[in-house]
Amino acid sequence: MRMPVTAPDGATRTAIITVDDDPGVSRAVARDLRRRYGEQHRIVRAESGESALEALRQMKLRGDMVAVILADYRMPQMNGIEFLERAMDVYPAARRVLLTAYADTGAAIDAINVVDLDHYLLKPWDPPEEKLYPVVDALLEAWLATDRRPVPETKIVGHRWSARSSEVREFLARNQVPYRWYSSDEPEGQRLLKAAGIEVVDGERLRLPVVITPDGEALVEPADAELASRVGLATTPSKDFYDLIVIGGGPAGLGAAVYGASEGLRTVLVERTATGGQAGQSSRIENYLGFPDGVSGAQLTDRARRQAAKFGAEVLTTRDVVSLEVRGSARSVRFADGSTIDAHTVILATGVSYRRLGAPGLDEMTGRGVYYGSALTEAAACSGQDVYIVGGANSAGQAAVYLSRGARSVTILVRGPSLERSMSFYLIQQISGISNISVRTCTEVIDAKGSDHLESLTLRNTATGETDTVSAQWLFLFIGAAPLTDWLDNTVVRDELGFVVSGPDLSLDGQRPRGWNLDRLPYHLETSIPGVFVAGDARADSAKRVASAVGEGAMAVMLVHRYLEKL
Ligand SMILES: Cc1cc2nc3c(=O)[nH]c(=O)nc-3n(C[C@H](O)[C@H](O)[C@H](O)COP(=O)(O)OP(=O)(O)OC[C@H]3O[C@@H](n4cnc5c(N)ncnc54)[C@H](O)[C@@H]3O)c2cc1C
Repeated sequence: MRMPVTAPDGATRTAIITVDDDPGVSRAVARDLRRRYGEQHRIVRAESGESALEALRQMKLRGDMVAVILADYRMPQMNGIEFLERAMDVYPAARRVLLTAYADTGAAIDAINVVDLDHYLLKPWDPPEEKLYPVVDALLEAWLATDRRPVPETKIVGHRWSARSSEVREFLARNQVPYRWYSSDEPEGQRLLKAAGIEVVDGERLRLPVVITPDGEALVEPADAELASRVGLATTPSKDFYDLIVIGGGPAGLGAAVYGASEGLRTVLVERTATGGQAGQSSRIENYLGFPDGVSGAQLTDRARRQAAKFGAEVLTTRDVVSLEVRGSARSVRFADGSTIDAHTVILATGVSYRRLGAPGLDEMTGRGVYYGSALTEAAACSGQDVYIVGGANSAGQAAVYLSRGARSVTILVRGPSLERSMSFYLIQQISGISNISVRTCTEVIDAKGSDHLESLTLRNTATGETDTVSAQWLFLFIGAAPLTDWLDNTVVRDELGFVVSGPDLSLDGQRPRGWNLDRLPYHLETSIPGVFVAGDARADSAKRVASAVGEGAMAVMLVHRYLEKL
């Protein structure tokens, strides 16, 4: 006897479906199938076409594989052929078998054309070893010959040029949540939308993206917070009092969380979007100590986050801190939803965000060909096309190198006369050695146009005033940054650009800062509020480097200990 056909490694959820309106027959088919295939496959039984379709839809959303579908021909409401036709919309690759009585052979033969039937089986099928198993074995073998690996991870169905679809991909990628992307224009994307009950109604805009969680739940246009909680990211603090609250999950915040938690402080890190901060958007950081071959921001962030969690730090994402208050010896942090948590100490590590370019058309095209900062999630889509990058700093240079691997051409647009003043020497060298990267100095973007997606840019030579319009589908902007500290207005002292002033800079003349009521002067990274420290790019005069941000996070924790000893 031949051995049962087995599913590929990891394909534990491959199913064989059988549907028959006669409960006795339905149970008998399922029993025979289970006897031979039950160890390797899931046998799913239904007693009507409608309930079988519902089961198929749910399985589709969960990412289960369906190898074979057996349906009885004579069923009320929906006969076997009608059912198989609809089942094909959900699982086009599943093999189809019609169970028929002898009298219905004609209908079965017709069905071969209608639903591309693989086989019809005459009832009764006894003994199964002779009549049922050889048929199902052959179909399973044929099915396995094609690559049908399951997709148990999160799925996103969206539109290429929908800004929110792009944001959701970015959010999941930066939180290291694996996902698979389906365009709503493609057949598999449409099948998933249909399975989720989302139909295109004439004249109505399709609500995209739809995110399908690994357990098959469909979320329509989810907000970041909803997404975070459904894909298993922590969003709620477990306590209401901590030793240390770290605000911001970039390198400085992650550094502070690792050192704080590893040194026994009850530590919570609060991040408004995804951990990693700016560094998380970097395609390759080449100057971080200990990584001679470079490391991607995503890898560094993933490791740092796991390290912080290993030492017991709580990491909350999608929580925006909106205010900081002093309540006696406690420092109280308020979230956007009004809830608060308190701690003895706070480290501000909110970093900076990209400035926006004000040229007409850019705002409308943002997320539809125009992107600020990150180039990673869109890189595959730029393949074989012409890409423009605005900016003269390292972030722009790295993006150019990264995108040049797939794009036809990459043009870096710089306002100044050269890159030398703003970009590291090693990157300038690297760029000059890549044939499809060119640099246009003294150039600024003054207009962007497109209907669905970016189509053209108008560029102006800042030296001569001449303009020209180029066809462009992709524009990435890396144009300097502003500190994310507006919410600290009227609390800690900030400089004229909004960066937080700390330590000796608060008492340049040897005097205590205004409102400071301790005998000592502020510690090095301490702000004008005792027990509140600042680390990384948000600090006035900081180095704006990953290593210095991490180092300041660690140093701030050392000063937190000093502060707590004297509390
Ligand atoms: C594309 C790119 C490439 C780079 N490449 C390099 C490189 O190769 N080498 C190098 O040394 N440096 C590089 N840098 C610079 C480096 O990434 C930054 O100096 C570093 O990330 C600063 O860390 P940070 O923690 O201070 O701030 P950030 O990385 O900016 O992180 C701050 C975090 O705080 C969060 N946040 C802000 N406000 C709030 C709030 N109110 N509530 C909760 N969370 C909040 C933000 O969402 C963010 O995640 C690069 C930067 C970019 C953008």
